[in-house]
Amino acid sequence: QWFRLTSCADDVFSRLDSIREKKQAVLHMDIPTDWELYGDPFYWTQILFNLVENALKQNTEPGLSITVAAAKTQDACVITVTDTGVGIPVESIPFLFNRFYRVETHHSSEIKGTGLGLSIVKRAVEAHDGAITVSSIPHRETVFTITIPLKRFREEKAA
Ligand code: ATP
Ligand code: MG
Repeated sequence: QWFRLTSCADDVFSRLDSIREKKQAVLHMDIPTDWELYGDPFYWTQILFNLVENALKQNTEPGLSITVAAAKTQDACVITVTDTGVGIPVESIPFLFNRFYRVETHHSSEIKGTGLGLSIVKRAVEAHDGAITVSSIPHRETVFTITIPLKRFREEKAA
């Protein structure tokens, strides 16, 4: 089924609005409204929900900014979720998509979670022939990058 990526992101932003407000964070969306993916929109809502929720949950400093963006390259549609929070230590990166893995920090015991979210995200992305990677500069920027083959992408021109 073809669906609009912006409707998944809209849905996620509204579901997370109360926690966003509590954290005084700002959410941005940079996705053309006519961009569509082929797959399961419920999975995509879950994928974006997990990534945006993580960015909100892990951060306490006001001024947090989270951006969901999409761009097209020669052979892929690239979806990124970027945040300006505490980030992920480089030594944790190889384990991040493992089931039950959580980064240990001085306040990680206060942040609720099972450590399953990202393993589910990875599976859901792979079920759509995609791949996910992460890069982080602690206290500056964390970027989750999802790459989806162009055969699952189209620009639906308004009739
Ligand atoms: P669950 O998603 O099952 O509720 P969780 O959020 O702890 O639990 P994951 O979503 O798999 O589990 O994330 C694993 C860990 O990766 C988190 O516990 C956190 O330590 C780290 N992490 C994920 N995203 C971010 C982020 N944007 N900034 C900082 N740390 C992150
Ligand atoms: Mg999570």
